[in-house]
Amino acid sequence: MGLEKSQIEEKLPDKSRFMSEWYDTVLYEAGIIDIRYGVKGFIVYMPYGMKIMKNIIKLFEEELEATGHEPVLFPVVIHEENLRKESEHITGFESEVFWITHAGRNKLEEKLALRPTSETAMYPLYSLWLKSYKDLPFKAYQTVAVYRYETKATRPLLRGREFLWIEAHDVFRTRDEAIRQTIEDKEIFYKITYEKLGIPFIHVKREEFDKFPGAEDTYAFDTLLPDGKVLQIGTTHYLGQKFSRVFDVKFHDVDGEYRYGEQTCYGIGLSRILASILLIHGDNYGLILPFDIAPIQIVIIPIYRKDYENDKINKYATEVEELLKGKYRVKLDLTDKTPGEKFYQYDLLGIPIRIEIGMKEVDRNTVTIFRRDLRERREIKLTQLHNYIEISRKEIVEVLRRRAEERLTKSYTYINSIEDIEKYADMGYSLFEAEFCDNEECANELKATTGGYEVRGIFLDKKVGEGSRCIMCGGEARSKVLIAKAY
Ligand SMILES: [Zn+2]
Repeated sequence: MGLEKSQIEEKLPDKSRFMSEWYDTVLYEAGIIDIRYGVKGFIVYMPYGMKIMKNIIKLFEEELEATGHEPVLFPVVIHEENLRKESEHITGFESEVFWITHAGRNKLEEKLALRPTSETAMYPLYSLWLKSYKDLPFKAYQTVAVYRYETKATRPLLRGREFLWIEAHDVFRTRDEAIRQTIEDKEIFYKITYEKLGIPFIHVKREEFDKFPGAEDTYAFDTLLPDGKVLQIGTTHYLGQKFSRVFDVKFHDVDGEYRYGEQTCYGIGLSRILASILLIHGDNYGLILPFDIAPIQIVIIPIYRKDYENDKINKYATEVEELLKGKYRVKLDLTDKTPGEKFYQYDLLGIPIRIEIGMKEVDRNTVTIFRRDLRERREIKLTQLHNYIEISRKEIVEVLRRRAEERLTKSYTYINSIEDIEKYADMGYSLFEAEFCDNEECANELKATTGGYEVRGIFLDKKVGEGSRCIMCGGEARSKVLIAKAY
C-alpha cells in the first residue's frame, strides 16, 4: 500500500513458482484481507477486498432475482432440536458445528448452533409459509456468513471457519421442476462465474459417498487453480423430499391431496470465487480484475513534463473524468506521486483500464490507454473513448477467460492406468479423466496410493464404453470421473 516501484518488485514473489507466497503478499498489499484478527480461520475483509466482494455479490443476486428468487434473512443461530432432525445431515456436520452454550453466566437450557448451512433454520418456517400449490414454486436466497469448525489447515478465503456465501433454498410441486432448478443453478453459475468473471469450471455429479449430507444428489462446480489443484466454488443439491418430510413442508395440491414439497438448495462460494479471481487472473504485477467487478474500472493519470503544463493537463484530465463519470467507476489521481509510482500501485490493484494524459494528448485531443490484461499502450481519439471502453469491458474478461481455459485444457488428459497419474503429473498434467467403479473403498485407496488424488465426481455427459474397467480395482466401470488434487 503506497509502495515504491522497487519495493513492489521485491515484495511480489514470482507467481508461477511461488503461488502461495504471491497470494499472501497480494492479499495484504492490495488491501483485500487482513489475517491478523487473531482467531484461527477467521479473516477481516479490508475496504478494497470488500468492494470487490460487493460487486461479485451484486452480479449473483441480480441473476437470482431475475430467475424468480427472493431475498430473505434468517438468524445465525439454529435450534439444536432442528439441526438434529434430519439424521444424515447432522451426522455430516456434527463435528464441524460451533455451539453457543452460555448467556452471561447462565448455561442455556437448549444450546444453539451457529449455522453451518441453513436448511434446518429455514425449512421449519417454510412449513408455516407454504400451504397450497399456489404458493409454489417458492424460491428464496440469502447472502450470509456460515460457520464450520474446519480441522484441516485453513487458508485465507480458500478454507476458513467463517465464510461468505449465497445460499438459495427452493421448493417445487414436482420432482421434474426441482431437477430443472439444478440445471438453472448451473446456468446461473455459468452466466456469472464463467461469462462475467472469466472463471472456467468443471461440472460434475459428486459420488454417492461424497454428496451433501441429506441430499439425494449433489452437483459441484470445481475450478482449477494455478498450482494444479481444484477448488470447489459452488454446489447445487437435489434434496427431493428428504427435508420436506422431516420439517413438514407440505402443500395442498391441485387434486386436493396434501403432498411434500420437492426441494433444492444451492451454495455459491463467494469467498472462494474471490480467491479464484485473484489467483487465476493475477500476474507478477499484481491483480487483474474483470471490468464488471473492479472497484475502480478506469484510472486517469496526468503526466507532467514541465510545470507550466500542469493546469492545461489537469483541466483536460478533469474533462475526461467528467465524460466517464456516472457511467463507469472512474478515478482521477492528482496526487503528487510520480507516474511510475502510480502505475505500479494501480497495476497491483488490478485496475482494468488506465488513461494517461500529457501535453501530447491535450494538443491532439486524444488519450493514451493502457490495458492491464494486455499490458499494451495505444493512443485513441477522445471521440472514440466511449466506444473503446465498451469494447474493452467485454474483451478484458474474454482475454482472462481464454487464458484460464487454455491452462485448464492443457492440464487435462485421459488416463487408463493408475501409473499414468504419476507419469502425466511429471509432464505438468493435473486433471485426469478415468473410468471408475463408483465405490467408496476404491476412491479411498486411490487417494492413499497416489499421494492425495481424489475422485471429484462423475461427468454427466460422458458414458463409459462397453466392458470398461475401473482404473483402481479393475472391476466393472460405471462412470467416467474427474480425478484431481483438491483444496
Ligand atoms: Zn474400483
